[in-house]
This record gives sequence, C-alpha cells and structure tokens, in this order.
Amino acid sequence: MSLSGHAKLAGVMGWPISHSLSPRLHGYWLREHEIDGAYVPLPVAPNNLEHALRALPSLGFSGVNLTVPHKESALPIMDTVTDIARRIGAVNTVFVTDDGKLTGTNTDASGFMENLRLNALAWLPTDGAAVVLGAGGAARAVVAALIDANVPEIRLLNRTFEKAVSLAESLEGPTKVIDWADRDEALSDAVLLVNTTILGMVNQPPLEISLKLLSKTAIVNDLVYAPLETELLFEARRLGRQTVDGLGMLLHQAVPGFEGWFGVRPDVSAELRQSVLTSA
Ligand code: NAP
Repeated sequence: MSLSGHAKLAGVMGWPISHSLSPRLHGYWLREHEIDGAYVPLPVAPNNLEHALRALPSLGFSGVNLTVPHKESALPIMDTVTDIARRIGAVNTVFVTDDGKLTGTNTDASGFMENLRLNALAWLPTDGAAVVLGAGGAARAVVAALIDANVPEIRLLNRTFEKAVSLAESLEGPTKVIDWADRDEALSDAVLLVNTTILGMVNQPPLEISLKLLSKTAIVNDLVYAPLETELLFEARRLGRQTVDGLGMLLHQAVPGFEGWFGVRPDVSAELRQSVLTSA
C-alpha cells in the first residue's frame, strides 16, 4: 500500500532499535488491513527521549511503542499515565491525544494474560499457586497480571533477593518471596511457572531448575522468545507439562497500540507468528 499525505504514523523508540521485531509485526497488520499508515523504527538515545516524545504531536504521530532502555524513564514525561503503567512502573505504549498530550500505558500485563488465556486452555488463574522467576520489568507486568486475575498464591524468586522483596511490596498481592537457591522446591504443586529472567536466551547462561515437583497439569511459560523453544520449554514438554512460548505475549501486547493508532483491532494469527518468526 503506498502512503498518502494523510498516512497515520506510529513507531518504536529504543536504543539500539535495529533488533526490534515491532516494525515487522505492525507492518504485517498494516498490509493485512490495507491501512494508509506506517510504523517505523526510531533510534532515540536516552538523553533525547523527552525531546523525541514531546515532538510526536507536532510531527503528526499517533503514538509510539517504547522499548529498552526507555520504558521506565518515559513515565514522568507523560501527561497522563494509566493505572496499570503506574503500578508496573513502566510505559510501553504511548498515545498522542487530539489536544497534543501524551498518554502512557503498559500492555505487557494484558499481553501476557491474553497469551495464556488463548494458549493454556486447561489453566484457570484460580487453579493454584504460580511461580515467577525474575524481578525485572517483565516480572512486574507478570505479577501485576497474576494479582489482577486472582491467582491465590504467587511465589517470586530472583537472583537478587531484595529486588523481589521490593517488587512484592510495591505490587500488593498474595506474593511470597523465596530464595533463588530454593527454586526446585518452590515449584511444589504449582500449576503455573513463568520464566521472566534472561536465562535461556541466546548468548545467556541456561536456566538451571528441576521441574519434577511441578503439578502434573502445570503450564510452563517462558517469556524468552529467542530461541522460541528454550531448554526450559523442551524439558517441560519432555516431562509431560504443557508449554507456552514467549512470542505470543509479544504479539498480543502489540494489539492495543495498533488499534489505538490505526483504528482497527488486529488478530494474532498463525500467519502473523510465521511472518515475525521468519524475520527474527
Ligand atoms: P530486566 O528488567 O533486565 O530483568 C532481568 C531479570 O533476569 C532479572 O530478574 C535478573 O535478576 C535476571 N537475571 C539476569 N541474569 C541472571 C543470572 N545470571 N542468573 C539469574 N537471574 C538473572 O529484563 P526484562 O525486561 O524483565 O526482560 C526479561 C526477559 O523477558 C528477557 O528475556 C526479555 O526478552 C523477556 N521479555 C519478553 C517479553 C515478551 O513479550 N515475550 C516481554 C518483556 C520481556 P537480577 O535482578 O538479580 O539482576
């Protein structure tokens, strides 16, 4: 589709940005819906973030996604911040309002939950305890989503114990912090395991954990999507547990942004997954 002078504009700000899958993902939906619009990578250095965000209304942008390292530092720059972004402490999606103001939200929690809702059909949030590994930005979104879905018990483990304690304190919920060294035992009878650490990612150390004590019906979800099948997912499947990979969350978190900027609610289809995978 060629662009007219009325084309709607959005993009993703990060530093660096060349690794981002978002232009490919939104580009797929723009073509699918024959939208007169563009979604572009925007390399923005940290010291230029405020300037770049403030320029969006005058450049005619409908909004942007934010990725590393901007998600936390964008929060005080926004004119309005949604409750979920404030609780998570990070903005990943920005909308420019009709009067030129910036509204920041975070779609990682809803993307995480939507991915599980559609791909872990046998799991209900109220079924039992969930274990979350990690206490970084992704963990904050996951824990917020699990609290909001009424998961009865969340066991949180992180290499740096104090970070897990501060996450648990700031997101009030049924969260118990457990020592990282006790991760095998922490899985006892849990019905959901989510890895939000970088362990198992390409060029990172493996995640060392025994899954034997997990409930037989447990779901294992790895947020890492490079590789798509991590050693954690491989081992979980070998032991007969159902697995959910991290690509689905990435695709689902993009839906509200696309809908807000371009006016069409897009589908997360098998063809989209394939298109993004072949570009990764
Ligand atoms: P982050 O804020 O930097 O957090 C990194 C986490 O990994 C921390 O909990 C950190 O523990 C832990 N970690 C790092 N090295 C470790 C090691 N050697 N041993 C044990 N733990 C270690 O990163 P993030 O933004 O939360 O992202 C985390 C992962 O989730 C990445 O792989 C990212 O690609 C993925 N992710 C996926 C999606 C998706 O849509 N699928 C969305 C967001 C993120 P410490 O606190 O001790 O440093």
